[in-house]
Amino acid sequence: MSGEFDLIARIRARAPRRADVVLGIGDDAAVLAVPHGRQLVVCTDTLNTGVHFPEDTAAEAIGWKALAVNLSDLAAMGAVPAWCTLSLSLPRDEAGLADALVDGLLALAAEHGVTLVGGDTTRGPLSVCVTALGHVAPGGALRRDAARPGDSIWVSGTLGDAAAALALRSRGETMPAALRGRMDRPSPRLALGQALVGLAHACIDVSDGLLADLGHVLDASGVGAEIDVDALPASAALHAAVADVDARRALQSSGGDDYELCFTAPAAREALVRAAAAAAGVAVTRIGGIVAGRDSVCRTGAGEVWHPPRRGYAHF
Ligand code: ADP
Ligand code: MG
Repeated sequence: MSGEFDLIARIRARAPRRADVVLGIGDDAAVLAVPHGRQLVVCTDTLNTGVHFPEDTAAEAIGWKALAVNLSDLAAMGAVPAWCTLSLSLPRDEAGLADALVDGLLALAAEHGVTLVGGDTTRGPLSVCVTALGHVAPGGALRRDAARPGDSIWVSGTLGDAAAALALRSRGETMPAALRGRMDRPSPRLALGQALVGLAHACIDVSDGLLADLGHVLDASGVGAEIDVDALPASAALHAAVADVDARRALQSSGGDDYELCFTAPAAREALVRAAAAAAGVAVTRIGGIVAGRDSVCRTGAGEVWHPPRRGYAHF
């Protein structure tokens, strides 16, 4: 692919040099210095055009989101992010597209002290695969299988904004900037994830919709949940864009692309959870509790049982 080597040279020139990168871009593989006594945490996620982002998405937003979804996975493990790789499939010799994409990725990487250490560049339909690497104290990773009866269930930030943007878009309506921003440029909750190590029991990031992702925690932990659907945190932008209460509940409980953290912690640790969230600079909201057994239920604020609209949720 002509231009591939120019592109890699430009990327290499922009990747910051760091002591923990023994060998970065330019050799057959990168060599990384994992901090002494820490466990390595690795995740990978691919974004395909037309599937994971609309075809008219700005290239910078694609690069940002490709890293953001991975950093969100590291956040959900309580990991400190450190390195990433970037595998690019580009439709044409489109240097401008690739450079803008790398701009977006490196902007988010710089915010979180992540350095780009390698990747791959090929020709094909636009697709971006990022692998992110970080580290945790031995045994400290936040897992899906650690929820216990008596835990409170918490969620960070607000839910439903990205799903509302997508719904408006599919109806041909204009997307308010605040909602579109949540869809294009999610903020991975890394500081919160790290602050929850030793405090939270189970944790997952909300990418497929709150109830679907919480369902993975319930399955892995062998427990049930009681959720107050009217306690789900909503942004002012969501209230302004979606007036109907039930439509809002649907977006918040079952929409996707929130990239917030959903976690459980013993009820007695409420004050500690709130202090950790305040230190991390992120709002957290208690949305329910973990119960013994496998039965789960959603209720409205008035106490009535509420059924999520989307099929396929075995749990609620
Ligand atoms: P190889 O044939 O050994 O896979 P490549 O030509 O694919 O070598 O890559 C050369 C170097 O450039 C490697 O260090 C690789 O990690 C890096 N690299 C290639 N593409 C990218 C990219 N899109 N982003 C960052 N690094 C890249
Ligand atoms: Mg290669």
